[in-house]
Amino acid sequence: MPQRKTKRGAERTPLTGDADVLVCGASFAGLAVARALAGSGARVLLLDRYEIGERQTSACAAPTGWLEALGLEDSIRQTFTELVVHTPHGTSRYRLPWTFSTFDYPQLCGLLFDRCDAEFETAKVDGRSGFTVHTDRGDASAALVVDALGWRRVLGGQGFQPPDAPLSRGLEVHPWRADRDLEIWIDRRYVPAGYGWSFPAGDEVRIGVGSFDPRFHVRDTTVLLAEDLGADPVRYQGNWIPHRLRDATEDGVFFVGDSAGHCLPLTAEGIRTAFYFGIACGRELRAVLRGDRTREEALRRYHEFSAAHEWKYRWMLRAQRLVPRVPPRLLAPAIGVMGAQRFVDWSFGHYLRIAPPSFAGDSLPAPEPLRAAA
Ligand SMILES: Cc1cc2nc3c(=O)[nH]c(=O)nc-3n(C[C@H](O)[C@H](O)[C@H](O)COP(=O)(O)OP(=O)(O)OC[C@H]3O[C@@H](n4cnc5c(N)ncnc54)[C@H](O)[C@@H]3O)c2cc1C
Repeated sequence: MPQRKTKRGAERTPLTGDADVLVCGASFAGLAVARALAGSGARVLLLDRYEIGERQTSACAAPTGWLEALGLEDSIRQTFTELVVHTPHGTSRYRLPWTFSTFDYPQLCGLLFDRCDAEFETAKVDGRSGFTVHTDRGDASAALVVDALGWRRVLGGQGFQPPDAPLSRGLEVHPWRADRDLEIWIDRRYVPAGYGWSFPAGDEVRIGVGSFDPRFHVRDTTVLLAEDLGADPVRYQGNWIPHRLRDATEDGVFFVGDSAGHCLPLTAEGIRTAFYFGIACGRELRAVLRGDRTREEALRRYHEFSAAHEWKYRWMLRAQRLVPRVPPRLLAPAIGVMGAQRFVDWSFGHYLRIAPPSFAGDSLPAPEPLRAAA
């Protein structure tokens, strides 16, 4: 389990000392960066407003290969070889060429943190001046600063406010019960543009609705989906989900995960991409710490690495816009045709290769040169 350094009340003393690397945000992206820096000898300071693993930020389903590549198997709650897709006019069952697993968020974060040698402090990050980050416990400085704070991109210069920003909204409930299938619903009864899901995870099921249109409120239809499944709408969690890639560097700072829009459009899968870009960022930071590169070279390389994925994100965004336009009566036959095994293998193979588990390697040390996955 992580070593907790949460400060409460009188213990909430000012942060002290400068770090070599300041990683703001200790969820998927921030922990992936910190993990990639383990053994570098640098003083790495991780900051988050909550304790590590305290606030679950997603339905926590990811390709099993990624969880294995990072040694996180113990956090797996359930593994799925099939995806069940429901439309108002029929249901298709896709046999996947690789598996998805749901996992326990606190346990996964704890396992990742165990593999870091970073220090951790709870602090709310409010902004920065240059390379000094301002928090509710005072300032912290480092030559290398990472924003892994999620969609708000707190350390960026430009605000990003829903509902005008390119954000989807997601909400889910977590009733206690066991279930078997990984299921999604493309059904306007739940959301005009988006999908509903049911992801079992051992003794709980994560049932939710995501809307690509940030103006559509998903609370009522999340309850509706839960009720349709005979489940109690209890234990809510939700958030905004970026669906457009943003600059991965800005004014000397590295942005990783949702803060860089690394979550994939259409599927809203952002965990493995947070791992993938977090590892890429960590490798660049290591090179700077070793003295092999300047910070500016690392910023440029990481920026280019992220931007090289832009066309893949653009295609996924096109698909995100197209799916809601397909008339419902055509959707079921289209999804049925796409269920042909050769098509499933081909499309899901391509999809995984956007951020493949092989990129993790043993994660340490960094292979050279840094290249985008084909
Ligand atoms: C309902 C829902 C379900 C989802 N399901 C899935 C799924 O099953 N699979 C999948 O791949 N993706 C899923 N996603 C998307 C996924 O959750 C995100 O893409 C992913 O969490 C991004 O990781 P991150 O580390 O960049 O950001 P986050 O996980 O959002 O982490 C940001 C961290 O920064 C901290 N933080 C934020 N602001 C501050 C501040 N001011 N000061 C200090 N700390 C701060 C937060 O506490 C948090 O720990 C889902 C999203 C939603 C909303």
